[in-house]
Amino acid sequence: MSSMLPKVVVTRRLPGISGARLAGKVTVAAPPPDAPMPPEELLRLAPGTSGILCTLADRIDRPLMDAAGPSLKVVSNYAVGVNNVDVAEATRRGIRVCNTPDVLTQATADLGFALMLAAARKFSEAETALRAGEFTGWDPWGFLGVPVYGGTLGIVGLGKIGAAVAVRAKGFGMRILYHNRRPLPADRERILSVEYRGLDELLAESDFVILCVPLTPETRGLIGRERLARMKRTAVLVNIARGEVVDEGALADALAERGIFAAGLDVYEKEPVVHPGLLAAPSAVLLPHVGSATAETRERMGRLAAENLLAVLSGTEPFSPVN
Ligand code: NAP
Repeated sequence: MSSMLPKVVVTRRLPGISGARLAGKVTVAAPPPDAPMPPEELLRLAPGTSGILCTLADRIDRPLMDAAGPSLKVVSNYAVGVNNVDVAEATRRGIRVCNTPDVLTQATADLGFALMLAAARKFSEAETALRAGEFTGWDPWGFLGVPVYGGTLGIVGLGKIGAAVAVRAKGFGMRILYHNRRPLPADRERILSVEYRGLDELLAESDFVILCVPLTPETRGLIGRERLARMKRTAVLVNIARGEVVDEGALADALAERGIFAAGLDVYEKEPVVHPGLLAAPSAVLLPHVGSATAETRERMGRLAAENLLAVLSGTEPFSPVN
């Protein structure tokens, strides 16, 4: 009977997506690999598939949709950002695209706040020195950072994750500015204790700038040389959004020239490649895209991604559709 079940491709072995969850409902085309699926392999498996459950490392574009053909009904992304999926093309073809919002919000906001603290207080530089045997005792001049408590935080992209960052910042006595394309309703601003600013004003006023926008044609390269120059020399830039939102070459230069104080990065323009100028910058705290990396969050992402896929294939409305 299993040949009657819709065929799906799961591009990687993922927490929360067990064979048992899918068993009896779909046929998985091939055992999900333990590394990113090579694009040629995804293309090879695509023909006749009804669903693709993928990660942000998979490019779900027009050639892949062509290869899959009219059987393809759903692309379920194991991420909230869908910049790896051509959503407009999927919509034209009647393919539902789903993502995993909400379940990763708190974990990602925790990580963003951790990066703010770590960059402000030179965690990486200090720990690297200690591990190199350079800790020779308390030093009144060593690793002097900038204060987080009471500083001004600028949140670029005050959506679900941005709002969760704001809640944490309130506990740190911070003044909170934000920039979205449109201001939030006044009561929402009041609840979150946030003030709207144009992007350039936000950059000039903030001691910390945290990027929480989705990657779109509008936000690609949003923080380039000119905008970095608007930031205070004592300011810290944190990127937990997507690497392409920042011009990494310009950021590496700004750090080298002490145009800004420090940066905390979880995401990169050409993952897994990290710009050599960032690797060389002691004032950059660099993490390998671990925003949502808690066991509980990854499990919940998997469950949601699987439920979205199964919902569309059974003809019901998915839990978190993008289109
Ligand atoms: P969300 O709720 O949709 O929030 C996105 C916010 O960005 C919205 O407030 C939106 O407001 C604003 N925005 C969109 N385009 C903008 C633009 N051109 N200029 C200024 N603001 C803009 O999404 P979320 O759940 O918070 O997630 C945000 C992003 O975080 C995801 O798309 C993903 O790329 C990234 N992320 C990264 C990790 C990680 O591992 N590091 C984990 C999870 C998510 P307006 O529409 O009013 O402009």
